[in-house]
Amino acid sequence: MLAFMKVLQPKTVEEAYELAVKNKTAPMLAGGCWLRLGRRTWPAVIDMAGLDLLRYVKEEDNEFVIGAMATQGDVERFEPLQKFCGGVVVKGVKEILGIQFRNMATMGGSVASKFGFSDIIPALLAVHADIVTFKGGRMSMQDYMNYRERDILVEIRIPKVEVSVAIEALRISRGDFPILTGAIRRDDKGVELYIGTRPGVPQLAPKASAVLSEKGAAGVKEAALLASEELVYQKNSHASKEYRMEMVKAMVQRLSGEVLQ
Ligand SMILES: Cc1cc2nc3c(=O)[nH]c(=O)nc-3n(C[C@H](O)[C@H](O)[C@H](O)COP(=O)(O)OP(=O)(O)OC[C@H]3O[C@@H](n4cnc5c(N)ncnc54)[C@H](O)[C@@H]3O)c2cc1C
Repeated sequence: MLAFMKVLQPKTVEEAYELAVKNKTAPMLAGGCWLRLGRRTWPAVIDMAGLDLLRYVKEEDNEFVIGAMATQGDVERFEPLQKFCGGVVVKGVKEILGIQFRNMATMGGSVASKFGFSDIIPALLAVHADIVTFKGGRMSMQDYMNYRERDILVEIRIPKVEVSVAIEALRISRGDFPILTGAIRRDDKGVELYIGTRPGVPQLAPKASAVLSEKGAAGVKEAALLASEELVYQKNSHASKEYRMEMVKAMVQRLSGEVLQ
C-alpha cells in the first residue's frame, strides 16, 4: 500500500526537479504501480500527475520520442514503433503483466527505476536510445544506467535507424517477473549483446559481442559460453545462479540466430 505524509504537486518539470532536490527521499509518483507495492510511509511524494505535458509518443524526422509520462500502453499502441526494428520496443513492453497495468505504468518510471529484471531496458539498449534528463541533459542509455544524480527523466529518444535487433525474456509463466533477459544488435560496426536479470541490470557482454562481431555464425557457441562466464550471475527468489548461467547459453544461440542469418 502506498502511504505518505505529504504530497507535492509540481506543474512543470523544473518545479519537479526543485522539489526532488529539496526533498531528497521523496519518490516521484508516476504510474505508482511499483511504489504502491511498498510498505513504507514516505514523508513526502512528488506527484507527477500534473506533468501530463510529458505524456507523448511521437515520430520526428530522425527520432522517435517517448515522454516520461507516456504509459507502456501508449508505446504499445503507437503504430510506427510496432514496425520499427521489428517492433522490438513494443515487444519489450508487451510481456509486462496485463493491458490495465500497462495503461498505468509509465515509461519514465520503468526506465528510471533501472530494474535488473526490466524487459524494456534491454530493448532500449539495443536500439541505442538516449535518455534526456532535466539537469543532466541528453546521454546514452548505457551512461544513464550508471547515472546516479537525483534528476527527472524527461524523455527517451530513439534514433530512426533500422538495424537487426532481437530481444528475449525467459519466464516461468506469463505475467511473472523474468528470470533472464537478453538483447542483441547487429549493425555495420558489429554485434552488441546485452544480458539482464542476472539478476543485475542489463549489461553488455563485451567478449561475447567481440566474438560474434568477428566470427559471425561460426562464433555463436563460443560467444554463448563467454556470455555465461564473463558476467556476474547470482541467485534470487526466481532462479539459481547455475540455472541462469546455463540458460544464457541457449538464449545467446537463439538471439544470434535472429540477427546473424
Ligand atoms: C507486480 C509488478 C510486476 C512487474 N513486472 C515487470 C516485468 O515483468 N517486466 C518489467 O520490465 N517490469 C515489470 N514491472 C515494473 C513496471 O513495468 C514499471 O516499471 C514500474 O511499475 C514503474 O513504473 P511506474 O510508472 O508505476 O513508476 P512509479 O511506481 O510511480 O515509480 C517507480 C520509481 O521510478 C521513479 N520515477 C518515476 N518517474 C520518474 C521520472 N520521470 N524521473 C525520475 N524518476 C522517476 C520514482 O521515483 C520511483 O522510484 C512490474 C511491476 C509490478 C508492480
